[in-house]
Amino acid sequence: MSYCANCGQELNDTDVRCIRCGETNQQQLNIKVSNDPGKIWWVFIGIFSPIAGFIIYVIWRYERPFTAKKALIGMWLGIILIIFFYVLIFSSVILIESWDYYGILQ
Ligand SMILES: [Zn+2]
Repeated sequence: MSYCANCGQELNDTDVRCIRCGETNQQQLNIKVSNDPGKIWWVFIGIFSPIAGFIIYVIWRYERPFTAKKALIGMWLGIILIIFFYVLIFSSVILIESWDYYGILQ
């Protein structure tokens, strides 16, 4: 058990921030940073599987905030990529259909 350096509120050992005043629990933050290098490849996991990225984010939101944030960034990139490919596929289907309609393919 530790205490907030700002307001003296009793803090849980896992708390990164004071629940009363929001002051950063520096000691706990240092432990988290050293335990959580937040490697860049977590972003790629999110890109390849946005669902996995989201699950990683939910699970590690507090315990490994840097990894969780990278997974979340990957999730958004993955979602954007999926939307982009859908738009690309649908617009090319519509384009080919219209060529067909005007008899360009005959
Ligand atoms: Zn406090």
